Amino acid sequence: MLRSSRRPSFLRRGFTLIELLVVIAIMGILASMLFPSFSRARESARRIDCASNMRQVGVAINMYTSDYDERYPIGFPFWSLDSSQMPHQPQLSTNLFTYTKSNQVWNCKSWTGVYLPDSDEGNYSFVISENPSVLDNGVIGVPSTSGSGAMIQRPRADASLQQPASYPLLFCGAGPQQANNLFHGHTLLNDAVWATGAISGTNVLYADMHVKWWKGNRPNWDNFYNTPLNGS
Ligand SMILES: [Zn+2]
Repeated sequence: MLRSSRRPSFLRRGFTLIELLVVIAIMGILASMLFPSFSRARESARRIDCASNMRQVGVAINMYTSDYDERYPIGFPFWSLDSSQMPHQPQLSTNLFTYTKSNQVWNCKSWTGVYLPDSDEGNYSFVISENPSVLDNGVIGVPSTSGSGAMIQRPRADASLQQPASYPLLFCGAGPQQANNLFHGHTLLNDAVWATGAISGTNVLYADMHVKWWKGNRPNWDNFYNTPLNGS
């Protein structure tokens, strides 16, 4: 009896209810601090995955241009000009399949949209002339949606790009002409939100085939999207 009375008090008894509740509360606070960082880590893993896919598409484009006298390929981006008729065929992914050997390289895991029937691939877009008579800064060819064989945009030769390292070839998300769709898959901003001055970001494949994260607001994006062929 004497021995037990000399033992420290915390060994003599169990936890009180209050102590247990405090421990549970602390665990809850710690968990709530950790969970957002888990989802951030997941998104940064997806971003890296997307960059790696984009890099493989870049390698495929590079092989295509080598095989076709340095001419860029032709095809519809997943997001094409007339959204009521998406997906248009042939898509760029179809025309590059010989080189990619897989359509999965066109998928970004950050995309939250719905995949269309007959098109399980693609949420990468490329720079195209929104109004060819005013602006003609694209290098990948886009066929006409009329099926006449005419071109919305003719493909160009690699030599037309004087600064390939600063010319954006592909980006992850929808182009500015699809205002109602998600603009950049990784930040989930649409055009309306972006127009308020919000900062957005996307992976970009440049014409020298390096991939980099681009971050900016809507005016920055307009300059970026309209990068002239001479890169200045
Ligand atoms: Zn992506």
